[in-house]
Amino acid sequence: MGERTAAQTTADEHIRPPDNRPLRIAVDGSAASGKSTIGRRLAERLGYAFLDTGVMYRAVTHAALERELSPEDSAAIAELAQTLTIDVSLDCDGSGTRIAIDGSDVTSHLRSQPVEDAVSIVSRFVAVRDALVSRQREIAEQQPIVMAGRDIGTVVLPDADLKVYLDASIEERARRRYADFQAAGDEVSQEIVLEDIRRRDRIDSEREVSPLRPADDAVIIDTDGLSLDEVMARVIGLVGSAE
Ligand code: C5P
Repeated sequence: MGERTAAQTTADEHIRPPDNRPLRIAVDGSAASGKSTIGRRLAERLGYAFLDTGVMYRAVTHAALERELSPEDSAAIAELAQTLTIDVSLDCDGSGTRIAIDGSDVTSHLRSQPVEDAVSIVSRFVAVRDALVSRQREIAEQQPIVMAGRDIGTVVLPDADLKVYLDASIEERARRRYADFQAAGDEVSQEIVLEDIRRRDRIDSEREVSPLRPADDAVIIDTDGLSLDEVMARVIGLVGSAE
């Protein structure tokens, strides 16, 4: 999926759901499936807030690494998750979800390789999930929202008005993620990117609590071979028919 320019995005008209009803929309999917990009653009088009829940799991992981906790230490990670103060600044203008931990903004640290390596391990623990899911539900109570993650349609918002599940072949996802890294000037090989995605997908799908899977009532979109605009067009079509 290619990115569009800001000018093209602002030229788009806002879309309105049926009866102008405020919606809660879940966009789930595997690693690098495009859920954050699509979720953010959809929120912009609707004039809704956007929450990328992945950054919350990344923030807990970053905090654990800062405190030199082992990502495997379930007791220590559980205590951490229950005691951290996590402030989420919702993305209301396309600039991205920002996260502060105990008062300090950690957003710029959340894509580091150590966080990338540990996040799926930390995200397996029920105490981590309980703490973050209750925060995510509180946020969804307060405004219409597009929320992206792994378990939004299955666990966080099981009664969401629309559930979209994005998928693509691992090769396509690795190619897109690699292009993102290259655009950001990060030196990393395509093979390592592919292996990272494969490893995270495996841990996320095999974990006992809230494994990655589409909700029974999710609309699955295979984005292989589709441009960003084509995926957006399909998702916008779904908003128009949300029940
Ligand atoms: O979406 P992103 O790739 O940033 O998510 C990072 C990791 O956080 C995932 O691989 C997964 O382990 C965890 N995660 C999760 N549930 C969510 C969102 C993210 O377990 N709703």
